[in-house]
Amino acid sequence: MSDLGTRTPTDIDTELAGYYGERTALQQKLDAREKELARMVREPRYYSASSIPSYEAAIDQLEQQINTIRTKEIPLEQEWQRRQWTRAFIVTNVGGHVHRSLDCSTTFPTTSYEWLPQYSGHDEAEIVDAAGELACTICYPTAPASTLNKPSSIVTRDKAERDARRAEREKAAAEKAAKKAAKTVRHPDGLPTYGTYGYEADNITSVTSGSAQMVVDILDDASTQKKGGYPYDGTEGARAEEQRQRKADLAGKLRTNLEALAHFHGTTVDEQADLVREKGLAKYVKDYSWNEDMTAHQEELKALRKKNRDRKRAAGN
Ligand SMILES: [Zn+2]
Repeated sequence: MSDLGTRTPTDIDTELAGYYGERTALQQKLDAREKELARMVREPRYYSASSIPSYEAAIDQLEQQINTIRTKEIPLEQEWQRRQWTRAFIVTNVGGHVHRSLDCSTTFPTTSYEWLPQYSGHDEAEIVDAAGELACTICYPTAPASTLNKPSSIVTRDKAERDARRAEREKAAAEKAAKKAAKTVRHPDGLPTYGTYGYEADNITSVTSGSAQMVVDILDDASTQKKGGYPYDGTEGARAEEQRQRKADLAGKLRTNLEALAHFHGTTVDEQADLVREKGLAKYVKDYSWNEDMTAHQEELKALRKKNRDRKRAAGN
């Protein structure tokens, strides 16, 4: 206790604010128990008389706890009585005002307060300025109108926590959007890009695997054609036209994808074409071996692998 005189207002009031919080919570419990007990006494036929002592005991215990806290508060309050530093409190309901004491005439005994010990001992003008529109005009009658018109920089803990949670959510959403944008492929002219099965897609993984699949489909079509599967001699005119259309469509989509991939990776279209063809060829050789003799494709794949590797190495230097 001997060091009380040297402790700062903020230090003392922080300790007091803690006691106040504990005591207020206990008091609420006590009030509730007392109300229940009164009801039991008032309407005995609804309650068993035997439960009354346990309520009385609970009330006794709460009173003792409250008294223990009060005992700790007294010397600190006495120190405030001696030095009388400025204090600020905020009422915890929405739009609650900032007051200079806990017994402002505009509040009620049931009003719930939060201490603002960070302002203890600070200039009252500074407190009013921080409180802005929330400054109580009874507590601070000289608060200038310009101050009373500006938003408060003092907030309740609840609001601060809510604000922090909202900021956290917004940050997470922004990060998610950034992550998505980082994986999103955009064609430089705004043309649509395609994933597997030819559906529009803009995710880098989908566009890359979609492009490789187009290479596979083109190779498959070429093989079928070579075997005479889709005659172009006019005897099956409609079917041939359909195939020509499909070929042109695939080539067009692949071209757009490659341009978008080049844009995404910051490389040339040729470089992307080689990389995608390597992927597609590898898949075709592996999965379509029943389709045709793969010797030529294997040769091409081997050469492409080397080319792509060399290019990668050169870029690394
Ligand atoms: Zn007030």
